[in-house]
Amino acid sequence: MKNPCGRVYLVGAGPGDPGLLTVRGRELLRSADVIVYDRLIGRELLASVRGEGELVDVGKAPGRHRVPQAQINEIIIDRARKGLNVVRLKGGDPFVFGRGFEEWTACREADVECIVIPGVSSAFAAPAAAGIPVTCRGVAGSVAIVTAENAAATGPAFDATALARIDTVVILMGRARLVEVTQSLLSAGRDPSTPAACIERATTPRQRVTVATLATIAEAVERDGLCAPIVTVVGEVAAYAALPEQSPLSGKRIVVTRPRSNSNELERMFSAAGATTIHCPMIKITYPESNDELDEAIRRIDRYQWLVFTSVHGVVGFWKRLTFLGLDARALGSCKVAAVGPATAKRLRRQGILPDLLPPANEGDALARSLCESSEEPLGRVLYPCGNIARPTIPDGLRRRGASVDGIVVYATIDAMLSQAKRKLIDEGVDAIVFCSPSAVRRFAALGLSAGDAVIACIGPTTASAARSVGLEVDVIAENHCASALTATIERYYSAIGAAT
Ligand code: SAH
Repeated sequence: MKNPCGRVYLVGAGPGDPGLLTVRGRELLRSADVIVYDRLIGRELLASVRGEGELVDVGKAPGRHRVPQAQINEIIIDRARKGLNVVRLKGGDPFVFGRGFEEWTACREADVECIVIPGVSSAFAAPAAAGIPVTCRGVAGSVAIVTAENAAATGPAFDATALARIDTVVILMGRARLVEVTQSLLSAGRDPSTPAACIERATTPRQRVTVATLATIAEAVERDGLCAPIVTVVGEVAAYAALPEQSPLSGKRIVVTRPRSNSNELERMFSAAGATTIHCPMIKITYPESNDELDEAIRRIDRYQWLVFTSVHGVVGFWKRLTFLGLDARALGSCKVAAVGPATAKRLRRQGILPDLLPPANEGDALARSLCESSEEPLGRVLYPCGNIARPTIPDGLRRRGASVDGIVVYATIDAMLSQAKRKLIDEGVDAIVFCSPSAVRRFAALGLSAGDAVIACIGPTTASAARSVGLEVDVIAENHCASALTATIERYYSAIGAAT
């Protein structure tokens, strides 16, 4: 009978970019009791894992096995036998040159269940990230993956003669032995002018690519100072290596302090622009379980001339109660809807509402003015679903124009906790820190975090003045209160300093 013990999941972490970890891998990392990881696993990836699991570093430095394989096997088996669920996180795919199968076998022999979660191997991801197709109709119809390492240290661990007939050869772990490996391919008859490319730290912000020929690649890599980890590609396809257009954000490490619920768009845009985002929410948004005041306002919505939303959370909080009461957008009847900011308007459209008015500014007087100008009628009664720390400028401005305002709290902003791993990332220095609300700025200061030399970017003037008031020097203020404007403004900032230096 099997022990009543935990399981071991042999999870492939992908080549480096946290976005290339599989969905299942991420889920398992979140729920793991223990995560046993290697040297190749990026700190960003580990920091992006939110679980509470114990972290065990069994990283091996090149040529220096820090934790012997037998001991790694023992660690994972021991923990599983204690009833813990263990994620053994390995770079790339667990079964491609990573001794994954040895760990799998050790678990099986110890009667510990071991499940393999495949990963994106650097053998394919590194060439792809450099624009190299490992197979290509009419150019390369076969591909081999080999390693330059050899346990016996008596030359390369592959049959170079057999490889001579394979169109594309992908070599892993080849930095220290590149001369030897290329030499053996040449001796086996491979044409010295065959294109060859080396990709260093593929899919990470520090990716670099060197392109040469089989005869010259080892020297070119030395000249360019490429360091492990590298993947080398030999074959006609290596000539296709194309360096991606460098965006001004490429390689930048950017901390996003927004709550998880609305940071996705920003993170997607930063990633698309080549940056790595480190998500460190400073605040969390919560919605009350019950809200009598709002329920009453919704039931009597026909009393209101205007419904004013100034944030996505306001929309979400309002709709949670609307749905709870068994109602939908039709309940709003003839009440007009104003939405401040493009994200708020977009969220309302998702709920089936086309806002009647998109006031230009999130500021009381201007908002009241645009509401007044939009209709002949007096402002009348306004329902304003807001947060617990909303500034009074909106209701004040509306009241000055004769409105009667019911500001009802539909969501609360509370402090978020920051893991040690993320604190360390910020302490060690990042390129930019992005703030999207004064509350996130205040929490950043309250946590005693220091921005160091990071560029400080704020989504709007209100957040910027909050940042200045806690002593941060603001470098970038978005031209519009939305993710795309913020990304574009940061890009322009970096282009300008790039051009100036
Ligand atoms: N199981 C892993 C390979 C482990 S062997 C996989 O499937 O990717 C370790 C070797 O993988 C390194 O020496 C290097 O050759 C390669 N490697 C892993 N990640 C890499 C990366 N981001 N960039 C370049 N090479 C990488």
